[in-house]
Amino acid sequence: MSNTLARYAANDATSRGRRYQEPSPAHRTEFQRDRDRVIHSTAFRRLEYKTQVFVNHEGDLYRTRLTHSIEVAQVARSIARALQLNEDLTEAIALAHDLGHTPFGHAGQDALNDKMRDYGGFEHNLQSLRVIDELEERYAAFQGLNLTFESREGILKHCSIPNAKTLGELGQRFIDGKQASLEAQLTNLADEIAYNSHDVDDGLRSGLIGIDQLQQIELFAQPYLEVSEQYPQLNERRTIYEVVRRIIGRQVSDLIDTTSAALEEEQPTDIDAIRNCNKPLVMFSANMRDMNLELKRFLRTQLYRHYRVHRMSSKAVTIISELFDAFMDDTRLLPPDTTEKIKILDNELGISGKARAVADYIAGMTDRYAIREYRRVFHPLEPT
Ligand code: MG
Repeated sequence: MSNTLARYAANDATSRGRRYQEPSPAHRTEFQRDRDRVIHSTAFRRLEYKTQVFVNHEGDLYRTRLTHSIEVAQVARSIARALQLNEDLTEAIALAHDLGHTPFGHAGQDALNDKMRDYGGFEHNLQSLRVIDELEERYAAFQGLNLTFESREGILKHCSIPNAKTLGELGQRFIDGKQASLEAQLTNLADEIAYNSHDVDDGLRSGLIGIDQLQQIELFAQPYLEVSEQYPQLNERRTIYEVVRRIIGRQVSDLIDTTSAALEEEQPTDIDAIRNCNKPLVMFSANMRDMNLELKRFLRTQLYRHYRVHRMSSKAVTIISELFDAFMDDTRLLPPDTTEKIKILDNELGISGKARAVADYIAGMTDRYAIREYRRVFHPLEPT
């Protein structure tokens, strides 16, 4: 790495290692290897056809979870480099952070969580960990990707206490109210920066929200005024791009400045001092936090709850719920490798294990695969 690392950054020497011991990579750092394994995973390729707000077939220019993850990695790496943190680890966490997402964004996750209520629930964050720890089958010597503790710690952003208790060392911080590495903390906020700004862009492109509405929102209004005054002749599309770019830039600068000041004050000696803090040290200023919150609220009420988005969400709930019920009732509807996995988990854990295997299968689907599968299972004239 060209950049010198701060003493509290994650590094190979202080890594808590992998679940299965492996020889160190010859020409890469441990975290580069993690990043590379994420990129080569099946779950990563599926992100191309999974969405957050707009379903894949609605248009080719909307963000997918793949482009979202790449944007998060871009923002997160810039912040990591500026703060002399570990860029490779940051990138690995960013690219993997959404691997456990169901098809159809939050509507899909809520529907699956609802169906899994009696069987331990479904959390997409925990599912991301499950994907990298268990579900990827690529390596001869172990299940999963066998990533470092630091990557796994970063991927697990949130976790309920009952689930945390089953995760040993990895879950302990949720029980103790402690923190993850700075690389994990910053990727979490880079995720927010990325989705808030690209949802503004995609929302405007879709016509579901308008510039006039967004001008009521401070984080948009300020750069919009700047750009309109500086470039009065600029067409609307380019104006929007320029505004979105400035929204990202402002948030990134604010985050770097505020975090640098917090680190200066705290003087952490190493990564464990970061983990032992009672609050995250990566943060926005109070003013930026308020502006961010205002934008988030706006997007929630005006975009995510827009009737056209809601229609798609409502269809998503139907697709996920009915597929879940059908597979639970009759596992012979499923391909043999999946029935095999169901049998194994059923033998191990009973009905909860069976439900978990069905949830794994559904969560792994892309949007279009889920739609196709729904037709194939329920439509009498559809080829199977
Ligand atoms: Mg995300």
